[in-house]
Amino acid sequence: MRQPLVAGNWKMNGTTESITALVDGIKAGIDAVKTAEMVVCPPYVYLPMVAALLQGTAVRCGAQDVSDRESGAFTGEVAAGMLADIGCKYVIVGHSERRNLYGESDAFTARKFAAARKAGLVPIVCVGELLEEREEGITEQVVARQLDAVISLDGIAALESAVIAYEPVWAIGTGKTATPQQAQDVHAFIRGKLAGFDSKVAERVRILYGGSMNAANAAELLSMPDIDGGLVGGASLKPADFLAIGQASND
Ligand code: PEP
Repeated sequence: MRQPLVAGNWKMNGTTESITALVDGIKAGIDAVKTAEMVVCPPYVYLPMVAALLQGTAVRCGAQDVSDRESGAFTGEVAAGMLADIGCKYVIVGHSERRNLYGESDAFTARKFAAARKAGLVPIVCVGELLEEREEGITEQVVARQLDAVISLDGIAALESAVIAYEPVWAIGTGKTATPQQAQDVHAFIRGKLAGFDSKVAERVRILYGGSMNAANAAELLSMPDIDGGLVGGASLKPADFLAIGQASND
């Protein structure tokens, strides 16, 4: 049985004041979320503050990115070991904004994935196609290529201690959600692909959907058999919406 996971990606938003209010709002309503594991991913600089504010709650912290290196002369980078040290459990790697705005390749993403696991973090590796790739009919090829980079570097077993987020790029921050069936089709493709390597890993790995998930559409998306939760951007900045998505996966 896969426990649902709802992760909020706060991206580059917030101040000390607004983030304190956001965390307070989440804490105030978290008891209504019965089944899902809830995770928040603040900007790096607010992570220690958020980890402290969340102490004693069931909400976990994640980072939005991580270095592929362990330590040393890598100005501006943040190592996975540092994130583990301040209490992070999860880290997002290969978000489409990293891939498409900052040119991060499949191989670079795979190295970040491996660095995260080596430090004991659970990577949430994002995969997903651009609009033109969907229109060309190559969604499955794109997603397979992105996953193959991780599998060939870190091995199929690595995915047992990881999370996959399927995020069609055309649905991120656009208000355009994939239909539950469109999302389910790709999730089933991913699980089937992994089963070709190892059926136990395929059965256990959680595959999240991301792309304009909100309080109104979450229940239908989360009811699909291969959708195990959500990676949520915009709606995770509002406590009521984020909590409603969590509640949508209550048994
Ligand atoms: C994301 O950034 O991962 C995301 C899914 O954003 P949004 O929910 O705003 O589309």
